[in-house]
Amino acid sequence: MTRTVPDCLRCNDTRVFISVRPRERYAHAKLCECVSIPCKTCKGTGFIVEQDNFQRDVAIVCPDCEQIKQHVQLYNKARIPRRYLNSCLEAKDRDSENEMVFDLLGSILRLLPQRLSNHNHLQTDSEDLKGMVLMGPPGTGKTHLMAGFAYQCTIGHGISCIFQSFAELLSELRQGYSDGNSDMEIIEPHLQTDILIIDDMGKGRNSDWELGVLDMLISERYNRNQIIMVTTNFTESEENTLKEQIRGREKTETEHFIADTIRRRVGERIFSRLKEMCYFENLLGHDRRVIDDELEND
Ligand SMILES: [Zn+2]
Ligand SMILES: [Zn+2]
Repeated sequence: MTRTVPDCLRCNDTRVFISVRPRERYAHAKLCECVSIPCKTCKGTGFIVEQDNFQRDVAIVCPDCEQIKQHVQLYNKARIPRRYLNSCLEAKDRDSENEMVFDLLGSILRLLPQRLSNHNHLQTDSEDLKGMVLMGPPGTGKTHLMAGFAYQCTIGHGISCIFQSFAELLSELRQGYSDGNSDMEIIEPHLQTDILIIDDMGKGRNSDWELGVLDMLISERYNRNQIIMVTTNFTESEENTLKEQIRGREKTETEHFIADTIRRRVGERIFSRLKEMCYFENLLGHDRRVIDDELEND
């Protein structure tokens, strides 16, 4: 039976309610009011007993309460910027301009849970599981799709994520250095997460030291077969840069951002690692920021 109207309009039956709190930078998830307490499925114990393949009784985390609580925690740890609270990578986000990228994100998501080991960490030995570098001019909805991907990883699949802007990532690495931490200690939190999403890669003027630490982080994730997802306003090839410049003439602001390649912004080493770890996809299309800004002002 296909249900068209959800039982809970507040959460659309996801059992998770996402909101923004005043003066907080990140969207905040919590259990929706429709989740009954104590839980009817496990009677508040947090576990249910199931039979494994050998008909043995095994206790598993209750899917109706404990598991959702864990997923909510993962979402809150992912640090999704507040303006992307509605980004969930839902069918309604797919359109003729982004369908290729949308479908590829969907197939990455489908492969992810199969790679989960018992320890809930991704095992990515297989060649077929890559991350994505999503390129395109500002305002085409790259961050919206990636934030939705983070939502699906955490809330949908219970996979840990860090979603971070490039500038924020570099400033955290710098902070680690001023706190007197070793290079490994500085990048450790970014190695602990299953998925690292770097938004707006290449933005700003970055020192050799910053790019050096970033290179170390990316190389380390590469060696461990860990996934990286990236959005960037910069392009893969010189030729595209020129094309984008022509597009950008209508909007001088855009021209400024896309007049360079990823390779030049982050250096050859990082670029070639990313080439091995990720699909490179373009997201073009109309500027969606008008709608985003309306959301922001709500
Ligand atoms: Zn609800
Ligand atoms: Zn329960």
